[in-house]
Amino acid sequence: MSATATAVKPPKVRQTRILINNEWCDAASGKTFPTINPATGDVIAQVAEADKEDVDRAVKAARTAFDSGKWPRTMPSRRGWLLNKLADLIETNKEELAALEALDNGKPFKDAINADLPLTVACYRYYAGWADKLHGKTIPINGPYFCYTRHEPVGVAGQIIPWNFPLLMQAWKLAPALACGCTTVLKAAEQTPLSALRVGELILEAGFPPGVVNILPGYGPTAGQALARHMGVDKVAFTGSTEVGHLIMKYSAESNLKRVTLELGGKSPNIVFADANMDEAIEGSHFALFFNQGQCCCAGSRLYVEEKCYDEFVSKSVDRAKQRKVGDPFDASIEQGPQVDQDQFNKVMSYIEAGKKDGAKLMTGGGRSGSKGYFVEPTVFADVQDNMRIAQEEIFGPVMSIIKFKDTADVIKRANANMYGLAAAVWTKDISKAHAIANGVRAGTVWVNCYDVFDAAAPFGGYKQSGLGRELGEYGLQNYTEVKTVTVKL
Ligand code: ADP
Repeated sequence: MSATATAVKPPKVRQTRILINNEWCDAASGKTFPTINPATGDVIAQVAEADKEDVDRAVKAARTAFDSGKWPRTMPSRRGWLLNKLADLIETNKEELAALEALDNGKPFKDAINADLPLTVACYRYYAGWADKLHGKTIPINGPYFCYTRHEPVGVAGQIIPWNFPLLMQAWKLAPALACGCTTVLKAAEQTPLSALRVGELILEAGFPPGVVNILPGYGPTAGQALARHMGVDKVAFTGSTEVGHLIMKYSAESNLKRVTLELGGKSPNIVFADANMDEAIEGSHFALFFNQGQCCCAGSRLYVEEKCYDEFVSKSVDRAKQRKVGDPFDASIEQGPQVDQDQFNKVMSYIEAGKKDGAKLMTGGGRSGSKGYFVEPTVFADVQDNMRIAQEEIFGPVMSIIKFKDTADVIKRANANMYGLAAAVWTKDISKAHAIANGVRAGTVWVNCYDVFDAAAPFGGYKQSGLGRELGEYGLQNYTEVKTVTVKL
């Protein structure tokens, strides 16, 4: 636990307006919307509500910065320098940013300061390093020709982010786009706009040119849709639900075939063999599901446990869930804060009801925690069957579903019988079983004897309906570049 965690109080909110062309402005409509503290249900602040007209203005600024500004052409090392400067400023202001994240999202401050902030800073630094290393190839084609490729920025990127890791998702979007020389219009999630806007202030302080980064707080069906349908946007990068992912592809198809990358939902199999280090598997599986209030697209939410160790695993996992401390995100001793809003709270409670109705065995939890805010008790179901809704659908909450399996072939087949394919994990001391799972499961990431290990250099993304394309690492650069082939007669 961070030594600073106990000292922190909810921060002052400094910025609630829209950032366009390096200027803070109100929505064209003059409208605002409330952002809510999920720990209490109280309004934190009124925030400018961007809509179509604001999207138009932001895209125009980004278009001008791209089409006639220096950003995409002549400033590769300067782009890297500015990204590093931004990383430094985020690091200098990390306590305030982590506190904003805890206030607006409800995540424990100690998680924000120990996980979200270091990963955010590392992501900007990682892509800062790529800015002047994006080069093509020379290609030996037939004939008296000299052929080479250039990796050029894709243009204006529209970026739509979710509320579960607001700062980190902003970094995953902005850092590679800016390193590649794109200009961006980023729409923050309506539940959690505050940290994105504070980073907007740091972007101005770092000295990014006008129009390169534009940040809009606003709703999905209005501002988000306008951005994804905009004819002036060359590429849209979206992180959120699979349901909205389908809409984003449709908006692209119905407008200008802008490039689309999607990072969507998951129902990730987390597979525990009887030969695993049991204590590590139990703690790791607890973390895999309950971290961030269960609000992770890659949560290990289908927990398959080998029948030989099933009863022991269930009993110890239930004990661990009972010990999980739920409460005020600013209390350094708690592990779990509230769900992000009333809608998510209701959704999680409805899945708990579905689990009970479908005949799963409720071992602990199942109710609201406390009398205000959106807190849910850490919940564990045992005797879960593959066809139950809690084993099929993404719950996005602190609800663990433990399922029994027999052997490797059986579990691979069942792990793959789902529309998602974001992540998976396996716990075993047997290297053959570990590789059988790593190779056999159709998922973008497989963790062996660990979970949720992220690094800016390691790509992340989904198979099947968990997404399209990869973020992070060198692979993430492909989202923001076009390859141009140049052939010169000699
Ligand atoms: P969740 O259900 O977890 O809130 P969403 O997919 O609804 O996830 O939201 C993720 C992001 O997508 C948010 O920024 C949200 O405003 C945006 N969004 C929601 N609906 C649309 C839409 N129809 N078009 C574009 N963006 C949308």
